[in-house]
Amino acid sequence: MVNVGVVASRLLNLPARMTRDNGERIADNLCMDLRDELALLRDLGYTHLDYIAPAAGRRAESPERRRTRTTPRPEGNDTLLAELGRVAAVCQNCRLAGTRTNVVYGVGNPSADLMFIGEAPGRDEDLKGEPFVGRAGQLLTDIIKAMQLTREQVYIANVIKCRPPENRNPESDELDACRPYIRRQVELIQPRVIVTLGRFALVGLTEKVYGITSVRGHWLEYEGVKLMPTYHPAYLLRTPSAKKEVWADMKKVMAELEIS
Ligand code: SF4
Repeated sequence: MVNVGVVASRLLNLPARMTRDNGERIADNLCMDLRDELALLRDLGYTHLDYIAPAAGRRAESPERRRTRTTPRPEGNDTLLAELGRVAAVCQNCRLAGTRTNVVYGVGNPSADLMFIGEAPGRDEDLKGEPFVGRAGQLLTDIIKAMQLTREQVYIANVIKCRPPENRNPESDELDACRPYIRRQVELIQPRVIVTLGRFALVGLTEKVYGITSVRGHWLEYEGVKLMPTYHPAYLLRTPSAKKEVWADMKKVMAELEIS
């Protein structure tokens, strides 16, 4: 009979002192992750998966290697980030330039490991020129604090930098026009993890169509960076029962960033 604890220990390259119980628990978690992953793929329309055998002699990636950024941060990324902000501040690339008070570019640590990406500024953000400062922003700040972090330690931005009138949903041509800013921000910051808040944040960044309910809580990848999609804090204000799902997603992020 196969001892799943031993198999998991070998697969994950765990130290020899790892107990059999620990190995079994990890194997159980792996099975649950695999089941969730397959359920998601089924929801996305996959009917079968092709098996590709690993190359001979290839070893499982060590945890140290997984923690390494796939792309190093460009030198002087903070200066480049600030320069991009000055370009955005006078941007006229879409119709939203005509109705904004301020461009809401982004705030936080230019070398953050964690980046939160929202949808578009609301009234408070438009007036202040800072993302997530209204009621939904306060909730995001509370979530960040519960993760034992501060707003100054993370980076916060939106996929749309100017407020859509009456907080309407962004149009696809507006998302297209503004996308280069958020993509360059990610490129310059090189976070270890991105959390997208709401459907438009995910679609705006990746240009792929996802249903937020089915994809939420499942790891995706954007340009080599792990991406966790979750609900927007404004949705949580309307649907407080969804807070526990967002917290479950944030616990996965904390585990990935080794925040205990
Ligand atoms: S929303 Fe983006 S693309 Fe449109 S004017 Fe503002 S900064 Fe420029």
